Amino acid sequence: MPELPEVETIRRSLLPLVQGAVIDQVQVFLEKAVKPGPAEFEAGLAGRQITGIQRRGKYLLFELDSGQRLAIHLRMAGRLVWQNRATTLAKHTTLVMDFQDGKSLHFVDPRKFGTAVLFPPAAPPAGLTALGLEPLTTEKEALLAALKEAAARRSGPVKGLLLDQRILAGLGNIYADEVLFAAGVSPLRPAREVTAAEWEKIYGSIVRILNKALAYRGTSQRDYVDGRGEAGEFQHHLKVYGRKKELCLDCGAPLVYARVAGRGTHYCPTCQS
Ligand SMILES: [Zn+2]
Repeated sequence: MPELPEVETIRRSLLPLVQGAVIDQVQVFLEKAVKPGPAEFEAGLAGRQITGIQRRGKYLLFELDSGQRLAIHLRMAGRLVWQNRATTLAKHTTLVMDFQDGKSLHFVDPRKFGTAVLFPPAAPPAGLTALGLEPLTTEKEALLAALKEAAARRSGPVKGLLLDQRILAGLGNIYADEVLFAAGVSPLRPAREVTAAEWEKIYGSIVRILNKALAYRGTSQRDYVDGRGEAGEFQHHLKVYGRKKELCLDCGAPLVYARVAGRGTHYCPTCQS
């Protein structure tokens, strides 16, 4: 699933392409992917100009000259493909936005979990309002306080806390594993047992790793490409994620793969405690 670095890279790649573009028509091919219903959705977008794109957590927020916003969440395997207007569609296309300049933005989503919600700024969808803090733009002390406060009232493992979008917006399975490895904290550790010194390390690792992943334009292990169809490079810099049955790059011990907080999790039993 695209996480903060991938979604932000998509935003940066799409922005110069769509900013100022006027939507000619919209076609919905998967009814459940859009809100409101297809007719209202299509009517609300036709003739509108895209004035900007923001990101919040793993959501892309397209700003329209009508004042409305379009929140797109790619979920498991969704992709936004910028292309010339075409009469043929790629398999699994759920939504097409045609622009007046002859270009199109196609939402291609083999797993069909992705969503596109058109909403007025005063009434954002629940998924957006429930989001926690942005890891790269929130002040260190505020972010640390939120993490510790959440940990104190939680019984589960620390990995589950890092994945909880209501606390921290944008981290997913890849970066949670990488952050905990860099911080030397086991993903299995109960969140409430993580010490203040370890939270400092976790915080530092979140900022460093997300910024490094952004610099490499995200991780392309499966489907992810940016808005121009270009893959990222951070998969070559992963220390534990996706390295099932391989050896730890720091200590040489075999990495462990286990289900933690409901997700496949990679860690080093020697370097992380
Ligand atoms: Zn190790």
